[in-house]
Amino acid sequence: MIRLTVPSIDEHDLQAVREVLASGYLVQGAHVAEFERRVAEFVGTRHAVAVSNCTAALHLGLLALGIRPGDRVAVSTYSWPATANVIALCGAEAVFVDIDPHTYNMDPQLLEQVLQRTSIRAILPVDAFGGMADLSRICALADAHGIPVLEDAACALGASMGGRRAGAWGAAGCFSFHPRKAITTGEGGMITTNDAGIARAVRMLRNHGIDPDVTGTPDFISPGYNLRLTEFQAALGLTQMQKLERLIEARRLRAEIYDQLLEGTDVVPPRAVTGSRHVYQSYVALLPDRAAEGRARMIAELKQRGIETTIGTYHMPLTTYFRSVGSYAPGSFPVTDSVARRTISLPLFAGITREQQELVVASLRQLL
Ligand SMILES: *Cc1c(COP(=O)(O)O)cnc(C)c1O
Repeated sequence: MIRLTVPSIDEHDLQAVREVLASGYLVQGAHVAEFERRVAEFVGTRHAVAVSNCTAALHLGLLALGIRPGDRVAVSTYSWPATANVIALCGAEAVFVDIDPHTYNMDPQLLEQVLQRTSIRAILPVDAFGGMADLSRICALADAHGIPVLEDAACALGASMGGRRAGAWGAAGCFSFHPRKAITTGEGGMITTNDAGIARAVRMLRNHGIDPDVTGTPDFISPGYNLRLTEFQAALGLTQMQKLERLIEARRLRAEIYDQLLEGTDVVPPRAVTGSRHVYQSYVALLPDRAAEGRARMIAELKQRGIETTIGTYHMPLTTYFRSVGSYAPGSFPVTDSVARRTISLPLFAGITREQQELVVASLRQLL
């Protein structure tokens, strides 16, 4: 089976985890602090705060920005539903913004229209599949309206635009270390920010509301959650960080091979926003419209031939929950309507061979 993705775990990773497990110190401690320093340095922000997953990072990020019941948050339509769920979990309203059909990211022009007609408290763009949203335009619009940007960079560790890394654009950025992302800690997340107040609020909220600046006897200054990362996950994060650039380069090379193999077919390769570096957490291509109806059958057929593929991601406004609260219907977001029916995610990992990629594309062409 040519798997969709394979996490890169080697003896070096196993040894690091084994050592921490043997030490007996298992919850948030020195390894977590070191992992945070490493990620902050890599992304280029003053602070990074580790949490148990990216959903927690997004949720605590919104709370740290002061998002409260009744507020409206502008969010991309096309993402893993956690992106919009956290808005609802704050009691706020998700105001969806349709995407660009080539980058799958929030369309800044449509965002501008939303900002003109609605009172928005924060903007939550997604760097879809490791390709950066047009953060230079989105942040300019946010600045003009005096509102913060929380970047869902779950898939985009190492992506950049004009020399500035994903996670270093808005008020804060959120990363995931789920096994389908570039590097993994099993479950894991990180929030990056230059704002000491946001960093402090997230440190407090992830750890039972304890004042993070007080050592010794805990001072409980707020209700909080327990969304900490463990020491052995952080140890794994540190060894994974050492190979991040190598993994990204391998993925970019293999994405380029898919781009070439798809030339002359009517499958459209993904595109990066101009001037940005895509890290291809997934290689998500667009099938022709005539193939949309049979996509599920095609994915099943490919699986029978030993090739694991899947859809891109979810049309969030048309999920049962958001449809019920927003009374959305097909037609409300025409670009996402079309994209969501046609995307296919092809196998991509550092160790995939050229022959395997050729087989994937040849099989796809046959079935089309
Ligand atoms: C994976 C993902 C998340 C959720 O990350 P978890 O670490 O699994 O909570 C959120 N947003 C996007 C865009 C993702 O791809």
